[in-house]
Amino acid sequence: MPNKKDNINYEEVNEKLKTYIEDEDQLNFIKKAYLFAKEKHEGQYRKSGEEYITHPLNVALILTSIYADYETVAAGFLHDVLEDCDCTVDEMTEKFGENVTKLVQGVTKLSKIHFSTENEYLIDYYKKIIVGMSEDVRVIIIKLADRLHNMRTLWATPEDRQKVKAREALEILAPIAHHLGIHKIKSELEDLSLRYLKPDVFYDIAEKLNKTKLERDRTVYDMQKEVIDLLTEHNITHEIKGRAKSIYSIYNKLDKGKKFSDIYDLLALRILVNTEQECYLALGIIHSKFRPLPRRFKDYIAMPKPNMYQSLHTTVFGIDGYLFEIQIRTYDMDEVAENGIASHWAYKENKGSNTTANLQSTTEQKLQFFKSIIDLSKDKMSSEEFVNSVKDEVLNNNIYVFTPKGDVIELPKGATPIDFAYKVHTKVGETTTGAIVNNSIVPLNHELKNNDIVRIITNKNSTPSKEWINMVKATQTRNKIKSFFTKNEREIYIERGKYNIEKELRKRKLVFSDFFTDENTKKICQTIKVDSLEDIYLSAGNGKNSPNSIINIIDKMKEVSAPKVVKVTSKNIDADIIVSGIDKIKVNLANCCSPVYGDDIIGYITKGNGISVHRSNCHNLTMLENRTLEVKWNSNLNKRYLTSILVYTNTGKNHMLDLMQTITMMNISVDGIKTISKTDEVIYEINIYVTGLDQLNKLLLSLDKQDYILKSERLMR
Ligand code: MN
Repeated sequence: MPNKKDNINYEEVNEKLKTYIEDEDQLNFIKKAYLFAKEKHEGQYRKSGEEYITHPLNVALILTSIYADYETVAAGFLHDVLEDCDCTVDEMTEKFGENVTKLVQGVTKLSKIHFSTENEYLIDYYKKIIVGMSEDVRVIIIKLADRLHNMRTLWATPEDRQKVKAREALEILAPIAHHLGIHKIKSELEDLSLRYLKPDVFYDIAEKLNKTKLERDRTVYDMQKEVIDLLTEHNITHEIKGRAKSIYSIYNKLDKGKKFSDIYDLLALRILVNTEQECYLALGIIHSKFRPLPRRFKDYIAMPKPNMYQSLHTTVFGIDGYLFEIQIRTYDMDEVAENGIASHWAYKENKGSNTTANLQSTTEQKLQFFKSIIDLSKDKMSSEEFVNSVKDEVLNNNIYVFTPKGDVIELPKGATPIDFAYKVHTKVGETTTGAIVNNSIVPLNHELKNNDIVRIITNKNSTPSKEWINMVKATQTRNKIKSFFTKNEREIYIERGKYNIEKELRKRKLVFSDFFTDENTKKICQTIKVDSLEDIYLSAGNGKNSPNSIINIIDKMKEVSAPKVVKVTSKNIDADIIVSGIDKIKVNLANCCSPVYGDDIIGYITKGNGISVHRSNCHNLTMLENRTLEVKWNSNLNKRYLTSILVYTNTGKNHMLDLMQTITMMNISVDGIKTISKTDEVIYEINIYVTGLDQLNKLLLSLDKQDYILKSERLMR
């Protein structure tokens, strides 16, 4: 099915150019590029049988539809000349200058992709696109136009290559067009891809649309008339466009399980007005007459999408009970919605200024995905990791969530509040203690969804948890968490090594400063092959060298053997408590002071109920020597102990959820929570399961750091 419009001539392109380029020199420059390309491609033919020059002509025409600047259009004409014809870089530079030649070289590089496996091929492709984009985004725009025309003439390609090309267009180029906001190209690429990838689905939808077209057109027309009358009555100058949904977007919704008849926005209107204020005014007027469908209203004017898209969206019950999706926006917003980053060219105020530099800086400043790519490229990753991250996390499957202030944050699908926190700022990520999504507290591994409003609870003394590494989606978040720990582990090892060396020195009655003289330090460094005193500590801390062996380098004579460690074993391995001298005896943990592993404990011999174990400072213990006996914890067990704490808060507010959050965050389970006083200072009694004293103390410490908590302590009944 040859596209009838394919066979165009230069005049058609020129007519279009003259609508937005006034400068004669620029127009002549473009014509020179056309003639050069025509001459160079002379005698070459497309697979469709047409003269080769029809391809550059169409690419240039597509570029004019997004008002591309003269250099871009010229490069569009020349884009295949370096690769396919007898023309050198020098010749092109001489004739068309460096800018245009660089653009053509960029596009040529993108076409020359060497690959052995599909994965390598993709990696190569992405890498080139990404590099191209960061150098000059116009390279990618030309590539998109090039691919769009090739997709339009894909019928001429052998069938086995059709699907490959279609998939590439759908998976790589359409998402890039989307992120650049070039809706026109994105939408056509998607429809064309679908036609070749799933022809049955494509034609099925097309046919259904066709069948219902008359009725839909009439309904849309009637609704349009109503809206025009309504807005005119209120003196709002406007223009209304009927709006065709793309086949691909319908396919997408059907694919998500919706029925054809349920797809609201089959009936769609777009209202264009002059000012932002009129957008809201028009919305109010329409809502006053047509009842809006709940939760379908979206304000992308106040909160633009990351690809700069702005518009009001609403769905109303229109005439005859049909649902209408209505978009309301200004002409400027419409320009951005259609052409995205390329709309930069259309703005009158940019004429005459350095549009190339402006376009690039707008791309870098305004497009979040661009920033993400730049950020990713700063991380130390293999090129495969890098490209896969870009593919998974930047180009595809993104969700958009909001900060409480309404800023949009773009995250990969499956992202959690931790990803969100790190994306806002690394410091926010590192001090995260909890998250509130749409007013409810969620666990930190909660999967975020589109349009969620996310608030992160932080505590400046809090640090990341290693478990987070498995809770996050974005590679970048994972790398940031990992780097926190690699940094910290090093610090921990250094501290530990220093401590152990000092301890050993004290044992040998050596003075630290006498021992680590410059000369001695140097000698140790040379012997164990490290560079500094810090490295010596590190090697002692991470176990590479023992403190003894390090000290022996200087102080050989006074080697002291390490004290023997006596291992305590017990046959009664299942019990919490090891009672000296007794193997099997009934032991229970006292309720009054609920001891946990690690507490100092004392056994109390009850009358007929075995041994009751108390914390040694429990006031219920009658310290009768003959009724108590020494007991100790069985360190072989890995269990949790039930205990109770009291938390005193300083506000009348209900902090139950906050408390639950803080506690469960530390991997402590809550057995029960109750309020035991209801004055201004609320006291909570919380029953928890902890692994031991260490965990419990950490919890109390972190509770005490909360603003609303006066103090927290263990309960002693
Ligand atoms: Mn081409």
